[in-house]
Amino acid sequence: MGKTTGFLEYVRQDDRNRAPEERVHDWEEFHLALPAKERQEQGGRCMNCGVPYCQAGMMFKGKTFGCPLHNLIPEWNDMIFAGNQPHGLSRLLKTNNFPEFTGRVCPAPCEQACICGIYGDAVTIRDNERCIIEEAFASKAVKRRRPPQWSGKKVAVIGSGPAGLAVADQLNHRGHSVTVIEREAHPGGLLTYGIPNMKMPKDVVKRRVDLMTDEGVSFVCGVDAAEPKTAQRLLKEYDAVVLCCGSETPRPLGLDTQGVTGVYFGTEYLKAAVQRHQFGESPAIPTAEGRDVVIIGTGDTASDCVATALREGAASVTQLVRRPESDYRKNGQLPTDYAHEEALAVTGRDPRRFGVQVKDLVKDENGSLTAIVTTDGDTLPCQLLIGATGFAGCRADVCAAFGVEAGKTVATEEGHFATSVEKVFTAGDMRRGQSLVVWAIAEGRAAAAEVDGYLMGYTNLMRTM
Ligand SMILES: Cc1cc2nc3c(=O)[nH]c(=O)nc-3n(C[C@H](O)[C@H](O)[C@H](O)COP(=O)(O)OP(=O)(O)OC[C@H]3O[C@@H](n4cnc5c(N)ncnc54)[C@H](O)[C@@H]3O)c2cc1C
Ligand code: SF4
Repeated sequence: MGKTTGFLEYVRQDDRNRAPEERVHDWEEFHLALPAKERQEQGGRCMNCGVPYCQAGMMFKGKTFGCPLHNLIPEWNDMIFAGNQPHGLSRLLKTNNFPEFTGRVCPAPCEQACICGIYGDAVTIRDNERCIIEEAFASKAVKRRRPPQWSGKKVAVIGSGPAGLAVADQLNHRGHSVTVIEREAHPGGLLTYGIPNMKMPKDVVKRRVDLMTDEGVSFVCGVDAAEPKTAQRLLKEYDAVVLCCGSETPRPLGLDTQGVTGVYFGTEYLKAAVQRHQFGESPAIPTAEGRDVVIIGTGDTASDCVATALREGAASVTQLVRRPESDYRKNGQLPTDYAHEEALAVTGRDPRRFGVQVKDLVKDENGSLTAIVTTDGDTLPCQLLIGATGFAGCRADVCAAFGVEAGKTVATEEGHFATSVEKVFTAGDMRRGQSLVVWAIAEGRAAAAEVDGYLMGYTNLMRTM
């Protein structure tokens, strides 16, 4: 415990955000780091509890409490206060392959379990984590680590989201030759094509992929492993295959969209926006610029669509939320996230309308969407309707190509990662269902340990789940 009275002396200070009215005009990251002195104080707020629930990572009534990676949180909080960055970094990297991802987008279930939060405000665990890894990259303390020797075993990882990257990183450091096969043009999964740049900068993803490449992992992009011939070749040429293809099938909107243009799923729209604004490409899905945009749903994807549509210069942005407002209020307050703050700053109003759904679509003679009719009888102008109502499961084509038993997710034994097919494993959203980056990394680490045991007859890789 760095400072015994730290939790009494210092108040919680979150990382600052750029002002909504400024940041909504660009795609740059909106979190700003705290000055060093303030960060040190935030590390000093940790009470180093005898039983640190923050690192427990337990499921309770379907919700996660504590860190699923069992990050050694009090240890690195202590190192932040002590100013011992190298030791803090080594403790952080012991359990988390990619703190630069979780330090930005993790909803921080650790903070919900923080004892300091019972009578006051939890320690800023996520911000502290991000600070350690970003300072380490900035000071070149993150070094290339190549395995001392190679095992001679070859592993193909299908999908380069956080789960696939974690599998690849772990197995590469164990000395196996890892090739990551990715369908898209750039690696990163939803870190690249889902979560927008202002929350998850693409150069941060690239920095990690470049480091992993330097350490020995091969990335092959633009290859669809659901193609049966490709799947057969991978099964023949590799000692193990790990499917990390995410949970991509969107939940249907329940609307008759036949013959209507202008209706898309949230992930399609967000991917197109990344292609347009980060990679300079020209996707078929239109920009929100000049259009009246209606977004159906709540949660991360819907918020990211609101923030993206605002940045693209939408004429108007409305978010329809099925459940009533009272369902969302906490202690009388309606929580707002970054996208709602931005909408308020730009338009002067919260974009959400609660307790409302889309009843009908109105199109012109060419089939282009012009308006929607809501269940409360309103007609809203709308040329771009985006459905962000969750995911129905993983795609069937890739499961069929590898012959693995699957329903909404790929079937494995409880707590295991081996599929119904010899030498084929799975991890991440594809096994767990739509989840979080931190769980994808935890799944990837645990799957890597199981694959290593399968290849070598034993493993010394640590499992955090
Ligand atoms: C818009 C959005 C915002 C989110 N925001 C957050 C957030 O703020 N915080 C958080 O913790 N979580 C967030 N999530 C959830 C999080 O992104 C996922 O839980 C996580 O990315 C899952 O990781 P994964 O590796 O299992 O799958 P994914 O990240 O989905 O990666 C799967 C990869 O497999 C590739 N692939 C699929 N099929 C094939 C094939 N046939 N051949 C080759 N490659 C293939 C895909 O192209 C993709 O790159 C968000 C999700 C979305 C959709
Ligand atoms: S990965 Fe998430 S849960 Fe774990 S310490 Fe970091 S912010 Fe907390």
